[in-house]
Amino acid sequence: MGNPFEYAPAPESRAVVDIAPAYGLFIDGKFADAADGGRLKTVNPATEEVLSEIAVGGEADVDRAVKAARKAFKSWSALPGAERAKFLFRIARLVQEHARELAVLESIDNGKPIRESRDVDVPLVAAHFFYYAGWADKLAHAGFGPSPRPIGVAGQVIPWNFPLLMLAWKVAPALAAGNTVVLKPAETTPLTALRFAEICVEAGLPDGVLNIVTGAGETGRALLAHPDVDKVAFTGSTGVGKEIARAIAGTRKRVTLELGGKAANIVYDDAAIDSAVDGIVEGIFFNGGQVCCAGSRLLVQESVADEVMESLTRRIRTLRVGDPLDKNTDVGAINSAAQLSRIKELVAVGEAEGAERWSLAGDLPAKGFWFPPTVFTGVTQAHRIARDEIFGPVLTVQTFRTPAEAVEKANNSAYGLSAGVWTEKGAKALWTAQRLRAGVVWTNTFNKFDPTSPFGGFKESGFGREGGRHGLEAYLDV
Ligand code: NAD
Ligand code: MG
Repeated sequence: MGNPFEYAPAPESRAVVDIAPAYGLFIDGKFADAADGGRLKTVNPATEEVLSEIAVGGEADVDRAVKAARKAFKSWSALPGAERAKFLFRIARLVQEHARELAVLESIDNGKPIRESRDVDVPLVAAHFFYYAGWADKLAHAGFGPSPRPIGVAGQVIPWNFPLLMLAWKVAPALAAGNTVVLKPAETTPLTALRFAEICVEAGLPDGVLNIVTGAGETGRALLAHPDVDKVAFTGSTGVGKEIARAIAGTRKRVTLELGGKAANIVYDDAAIDSAVDGIVEGIFFNGGQVCCAGSRLLVQESVADEVMESLTRRIRTLRVGDPLDKNTDVGAINSAAQLSRIKELVAVGEAEGAERWSLAGDLPAKGFWFPPTVFTGVTQAHRIARDEIFGPVLTVQTFRTPAEAVEKANNSAYGLSAGVWTEKGAKALWTAQRLRAGVVWTNTFNKFDPTSPFGGFKESGFGREGGRHGLEAYLDV
């Protein structure tokens, strides 16, 4: 007999998920093949095993989905908010009921550690639906006028780093406000969105209220360009975000863009070093650094730099890189071959530009897409690794002497999504936060998310807010 107080969950395994060999598009409450029969494969990035084939939606399919959403909009938007809320509450509960399965499916398709999908992503998905369900019958009290109306049909395109959570961020407020949705998941991580479609069927959501059209960039472009889409919501790269902004300029479409980031994580000399080091690790290695708000630029005060670096290196040596389904894994696989080559390319640039690289030593699995936790010191503001979003487990380290210098370096970025501040002094934390041009500033913590708090960027990180009361505004005609 083992220690009865030791909590030993059953091993997470593929046994709880049932992946079909092929999936159609989810339009008007039913799954169907793409009109031209197009398919693409989604793989497990930890093994390169093909998981399933998914339909690639073309213009005709997108048009069918938008028509279904338009038809459903009439009755969905006319439902009393309290009735719409019931569907959202039901969806939230079903996500909780299927939590284990969704977490395993997410980790298999995306490569993220099961500990993250199980303890962070999926619980937050349910929390978002619960939270926005609560708003559905209180829209008149949300501060947007006495009877704010939904916008219409929302076209939503999401990335691969938090597949189901990004779906929840977009779908929950849209439906709560009375809009209908056509959503395109990322081509490398479509499986949880398709499983979510089945959950909506189980919840009795009326046909056409939510449609899922899978495919790659061309499908996304067709969706957002469709003339009968009233609201465009995009999360992804700044390059594609700019292209979308150009494409819809001059149309009556409303738009919110959630783009990249290059967050500074500022450690003052009076910070609790142990917790700061935990926060640095959480900031850059959570989801393998494939996070738009990742704390990818460490700014550490010169007088404690040696101590922080020594402790950080020691802490990184304890990280376990490997099988995403192992509950002890800290860093999983990189989502795709393309993302891995982007990381490798920027790391090579960092070395060529003269920064000093340190990577966690050890054997990485032979198959799959992997990159070891990596830290660059000797970095200057001129280096590309300090300016470009790497979107991988790669941290750059710079030092500063004064708070003013910390703020100056932190703001010296094309991005402005998030930032972190580590100090024991409340006044210093506030002084710093007030001067940072970042949509989210964490103090003595990092990468903490909550459905009640708005999230979004400044500058090239995009515009509009998701989450909280602010997140409703994007889906209301205010
Ligand atoms: P991407 O912007 O190419 O893809 C994001 C989503 O947009 C996917 O669903 C994709 O199919 C779709 N898409 C691509 N081209 C489109 C177009 N022209 N019109 C409409 N939709 C289109 O991002 P990526 O290639 O997966 O990643 C590249 C970089 O983007 C990463 O290295 C990272 O810097 C950044 N990124 C940021 C976030 C974020 O959360 N802000 C998420 C993922 C990636
Ligand atoms: Mg995949």
